[in-house]
Amino acid sequence: AKETGRNCYSFFTASMQQTAQFRLGMVTDLRSALANRQLEVYYQPIVELPSGAIRKAEALLRWRHPQRGMVSPAQFIPLAEESGLIHDIGDWVFREAVQQAKLLREQYRPDFQISVNKSPVQFRPRSDVDFGWLNYLKSLELDGAAVVVEITEGLLLDAQTLTKARLLDFRDAGVQVAIDDFGTGYSSLSYIKKFDIDYIKIDRSFINNLSPESQDEALCEAIIVMAHKLGLKVVAEGVETEQQRDWLIAAGCDYAQGYLFNQPMTGSELLVLLTGFDQD
Ligand code: C2E
Ligand code: CA
Ligand code: CA
Ligand code: CA
Repeated sequence: AKETGRNCYSFFTASMQQTAQFRLGMVTDLRSALANRQLEVYYQPIVELPSGAIRKAEALLRWRHPQRGMVSPAQFIPLAEESGLIHDIGDWVFREAVQQAKLLREQYRPDFQISVNKSPVQFRPRSDVDFGWLNYLKSLELDGAAVVVEITEGLLLDAQTLTKARLLDFRDAGVQVAIDDFGTGYSSLSYIKKFDIDYIKIDRSFINNLSPESQDEALCEAIIVMAHKLGLKVVAEGVETEQQRDWLIAAGCDYAQGYLFNQPMTGSELLVLLTGFDQD
């Protein structure tokens, strides 16, 4: 039994070491990716329902790895969070997204908004100088309402003083706040009221299963009614079919995002899509 235990142990450490090495390699690569312009911000349009007009877009990070090809953010965001790199990466995404928002507000619609994901780690205090998102907006003479910050339900639940202060600073500057992946975490309605949230984004997993037999229709309906009573707008994520879109329109959902409308695209592709005008 002892030997089996030891064998198991050595097998375990070998694979652990590999994993640790792999992860370390990825973190090193990620750090240089930021410096070497291998990261790119893509934008996925968010359409108004029922018109289908594009009113906003979500900034989504992409990594073109020289050997591994396109690496999914689901893979590298957790590494960026663990290593603390998420602060610098997130600041860079924000600057890119805000410049894109400025361009589209000038060239397409003055009320166009770009939404930016901000993970709970990005709300934590950091050792280096905090890059001021609000100061950056000011330096570009851009209205805070050009930006929507997407946060998760969990952030509100155990919001520390610093997090609360930052959310209130956003609000005071006119930056809007959306709860991302709504329904997958521990939703607390009282927090949504307390923090003066603007949008709820219904998680893709609920939209996937919309059918009269599933309980997800009842769930989505309840979320939409509740959100509207609280004065919030609702965005449905991951809309892939016309049936899903039509159901959401009938249920009174305000906005939708998904492959049915558009895949995430580069900033210049979005500009061409919206204005027909090619910058380059
Ligand atoms: P998310 O914030 O929930 O973003 C929506 C994800 O759904 C995106 O995946 C998008 O490409 C995908 N999606 C959109 N429409 C559809 C659809 O119709 N069907 C399906 N199957 N998927 C759809 P993506 O770009 O791979 O991003 C994954 C996650 O990585 C994001 O989930 C977000 O949590 C995180 N992420 C991405 N960019 C950033 C960033 O700049 N900062 C932070 N902190 N997190 C980011
Ligand atoms: Ca999001
Ligand atoms: Ca989401
Ligand atoms: Ca998600």
